[in-house]
Amino acid sequence: MSIHIDRNLCIGCGRCSEVCPGNLIKQQPQPGDRHTKAEIKCPQDCWGCTSCLKECPRHAIKFFLGADVGGRGSILSYQKKGSSSIWRVKGTDGTFQEITVNTKEANKY
Ligand code: SF4
Ligand code: SF4
Repeated sequence: MSIHIDRNLCIGCGRCSEVCPGNLIKQQPQPGDRHTKAEIKCPQDCWGCTSCLKECPRHAIKFFLGADVGGRGSILSYQKKGSSSIWRVKGTDGTFQEITVNTKEANKY
């Protein structure tokens, strides 16, 4: 399992690097650009905590659900809308599944 970072969306804010518990995401300077771009080093060390997905303000990070976690190559993405956390899984056959979690209710019990 590992993440994929869309370099076209990344604005180099560094938030993903700050929250990754494994220190796996580095900010790479870009020639001719004052902004850095996030890059994952050692993707094999990513254990899928999804902190970086939740922190990215540009939704530039997606999570690859490989066979090792039963995902068969589906792609997980995250979006926050108000107090809702929206998780979407895009299957390899083009299907979508969506799970919405009300974060205000999530720790209620
Ligand atoms: S999913 Fe977790 S471990 Fe993997 S790169 Fe993102 S923050 Fe780091
Ligand atoms: S949090 Fe998102 S926008 Fe910010 S550096 Fe990471 S990938 Fe780029």
